[in-house]
Amino acid sequence: MNDQLTLKFWGVRGSHPTPGAGTVKYGGNTACVEVRAGSRTIILDAGTGIIPLGRDLARRARADRGALEPVIFISHLHHDHTQGFPFFVPAYLPSARLHIFGPGVTDDALARVLDSNQSPPTFPVGLRETDAVAISEEEVRVGAAGERSGEVSVRIMRSYAHPGGVYVYRIEWRGRSIVYATDTEGYVGTDRRLVEFARGADVLIHDAQYSSEHYDGQLPGFPSTQGYGHSTAEMACEVAAAAGAGGLVLFHHEPAYSDATIASIEAGARAIFPNTVAAYEGLTLTHDPSPSGRGAGVRAEGVQYAQNG
Ligand SMILES: [Zn+2]
Ligand SMILES: [Zn+2]
Repeated sequence: MNDQLTLKFWGVRGSHPTPGAGTVKYGGNTACVEVRAGSRTIILDAGTGIIPLGRDLARRARADRGALEPVIFISHLHHDHTQGFPFFVPAYLPSARLHIFGPGVTDDALARVLDSNQSPPTFPVGLRETDAVAISEEEVRVGAAGERSGEVSVRIMRSYAHPGGVYVYRIEWRGRSIVYATDTEGYVGTDRRLVEFARGADVLIHDAQYSSEHYDGQLPGFPSTQGYGHSTAEMACEVAAAAGAGGLVLFHHEPAYSDATIASIEAGARAIFPNTVAAYEGLTLTHDPSPSGRGAGVRAEGVQYAQNG
């Protein structure tokens, strides 16, 4: 178990939470993905999906009598990527230790945004002391010094394909790699920097907020969304194919879309890039260590997700 790289999706929705009967299948929480690399827990974004994740982490730590020391990477500071943090239970547990990384103009910008998210009068409880720092390095290593085999490498690509900019993350551990590219808009002919950054990743998690019809302004009642900083599923497929990714996870679903709409977007994407799944809450992808490079060994619980040869 401890040799595996596991991904679990806790929030897959873009923009704002969407509870209700029409979103039960894919879920209504905003962006949050848990990455487990051996005994380490890395969290990508703190949308409302981080709320149930926090409760689960606290429960697991109690059950295992283990340390609760998650490392959180924030893609950018839009609400749907930070709004769950005030309700993240480990932030209030004296035994827990949090490390938070993300973009910011200054070293303390990230801490100030998280702090102002939960200061009176908007929230009754303040942020306790945590390590919340803007990342100045291109690569962060998660793991104890001198513990090379346990170290997880997290590389950062600063992207401008979203209003205000966004960080794209590449997580590598024991020959496996995951790229998290949320809140990014595709370019004609693909985003070449992103393609290079995602080259050969086992899994590419990519923004796929809109149908092409919606993006182009052909969906009745909706304006064109070109320039909003989000992609269509086709754009996500183009990046996955050009990068030679093993699998593609469509992410950051449009809140106005029902389960049926997302299912049809997923079906259309599979016709372009077969190894595609639309993220849903609870989707879990498990990767065994890869001593001979990437390839077979991707296992998904509860989904059709073909093996990459
Ligand atoms: Zn977003
Ligand atoms: Zn955003």
